[in-house]
Amino acid sequence: MYHRFDAIVVGAGGAGLMAAMQLARTPGIRTAVISKLYPTRSHTGAAQGGIGAALGNLEEDHPEWHTFDTVKGGDYLVDQDAADIMCHEAVESVYELEHYGLPFSRTPEGKIDQRRFGGHTRNFGEGPVRRSCFAADRTGHMILQTLYQQCIKREVDFYSEFQLLDLIITDGVCCGLVVLSIKDGEIHVFHAKAILFATGGYGRAWKITSNALSNTGDGVAIAFRRGIPLEDMELYQFHPTGVYKLGILLTEGARGEGGILRNNDGERFTERYAPTLLDLAPRDMVSRFIYQEVKEGRGINGADYVHLDLTHLGADVVENKLPDLADFVRVYLGVDPVRELIPIQPTAHYAMGGIPTDVDGRVLVDEVNTVLPGFYAAGECACVSVHGANRLGTNSLVDIVVFGRRAGKHMASYVQQAGFTELPAGSDDESRRQVNALLSRESGESAAEIREGLQDEMMDKVSVVRSEQTLQHAQKTVRDLRDRFTRVAIQDRQTWYNSELLETLEVGYLLDLSESIIAGALARKESRGAHYREDYPERDDTNFLRHSLVFNTPDGLRIAQKPVDVSKFQPKERKY
Ligand SMILES: Cc1cc2nc3c(=O)[nH]c(=O)nc-3n(C[C@H](O)[C@H](O)[C@H](O)COP(=O)(O)OP(=O)(O)OC[C@H]3O[C@@H](n4cnc5c(N)ncnc54)[C@H](O)[C@@H]3O)c2cc1C
Repeated sequence: MYHRFDAIVVGAGGAGLMAAMQLARTPGIRTAVISKLYPTRSHTGAAQGGIGAALGNLEEDHPEWHTFDTVKGGDYLVDQDAADIMCHEAVESVYELEHYGLPFSRTPEGKIDQRRFGGHTRNFGEGPVRRSCFAADRTGHMILQTLYQQCIKREVDFYSEFQLLDLIITDGVCCGLVVLSIKDGEIHVFHAKAILFATGGYGRAWKITSNALSNTGDGVAIAFRRGIPLEDMELYQFHPTGVYKLGILLTEGARGEGGILRNNDGERFTERYAPTLLDLAPRDMVSRFIYQEVKEGRGINGADYVHLDLTHLGADVVENKLPDLADFVRVYLGVDPVRELIPIQPTAHYAMGGIPTDVDGRVLVDEVNTVLPGFYAAGECACVSVHGANRLGTNSLVDIVVFGRRAGKHMASYVQQAGFTELPAGSDDESRRQVNALLSRESGESAAEIREGLQDEMMDKVSVVRSEQTLQHAQKTVRDLRDRFTRVAIQDRQTWYNSELLETLEVGYLLDLSESIIAGALARKESRGAHYREDYPERDDTNFLRHSLVFNTPDGLRIAQKPVDVSKFQPKERKY
């Protein structure tokens, strides 16, 4: 089936919906949103802790301080011009969300309430500042519901439960998509003047993750297969407080409200590592502190976890400011957070890297930032880069809102002056062949086993601490798994709601992305932010204060570098 729209957004999380709203408010532009999930099930809905903006509602704060924290938090790999835009536009974006009806938690005077979060400081690092705006611990849920309502009001066309299979680029212009309708297995071709990928992250490459089952990096992998390089893939964040063994996220807002991490001796170990910010040091560091405690035998009963202690906060704070957290812990662990300690371990959480874009969401295809006309990306699948080597908490919700909005605006003006590029004949042939091959292969490897092998290896060898040795091991394992994947077969032959087919395609994406993550991690012979190499423990600005790009070429992966914008703050050693 063939469809034609001026603009198409793939992904109905915060980034996609924000962009769709901008498009929909421009008269005459026909916009569609394609999403494999029902929109309000997107992972944005799981975001708990808040959205950072220097509103200064409870104490003095400035976008400039927010920019500094973002740059320092990202271990100076942040493009500072982009971070500056994000932190300044964060303020108006939060008010815009408020005006759309987002039910933020309030101060007694009725202002938007704000709380502390890791790495957010007053006056360029003097101490913590209250910058995170929140709706209890359901901020993302509220953002998603609010934006979806606004899109419905503006009559955006939604294609929900449609899974993207391929991107069509012809003569250097992006002009269409191949998409599978999940409900009946039919393949559709969408023709457009401009396309935005807002397909989210890929935490499912690891065994312990905070990410939903659907976070398999489809858009990133599909762009990569079509020749778009990927930026800073080795920089993947582990959040310090995942529920032990399950990975379910316990928001940093818990530490923002005063929660403390303790080792087997009951010691608040962050005092030894980050004397100023303590438990609110940035995530890359706190995850490494936990790793160190466990390595030195101070994990709980010698095992690979520590405790999050909220018992001193009182029932009122726990039940009213962290209601979802309290629920998770009671349901999944049978632990009462008001009276008992919570077992936690670092969990794979957030992709700093992804599809390279400029500050208007336009996708960049090489080392000198050449734009691919008609192709945009925003949100977690994109790398602007505002998070550098480590994202600060609350900065992803800011990123999706600010850059989703900017991308939508740029697309709106682009489609008003651009025409339709003709689709090449047979642009859906490859996808049809791929799907038919999977549906017709009689026997072969199991996708579930390949996925498990991948997740175990990534967790063991490519997580909080890496080295040449672990990375080479992982590289070989992933290559073997990819080889097995060429012979993958599925049991379910139905065309309608064939979740096995979809999950198999997703394993393919995770394999491609893992290979690029490992290649980037091998090439970055230094430690910076979330990328910690035991064999190169220092940051090396001379050789690696650069973004890395990985290209998918017929001869294998090629790694290149491109400059980082350091126009505002000169790199310094990171201490907290
Ligand atoms: C548990 C958790 C808590 C978090 N808490 C916070 C927080 O408090 N503050 C903060 O700043 N950040 C937080 N984050 C990070 C933040 O929520 C995400 O980075 C952000 O919401 C991503 O938004 P997005 O719009 O880019 O993608 P998502 O919200 O992940 O949406 C992706 C969309 O793409 C669609 N899609 C994907 N693949 C396909 C395909 N093949 N075909 C069609 N559609 C596709 C999906 O259907 C979905 O609609 C949290 C993340 C997690 C996992």
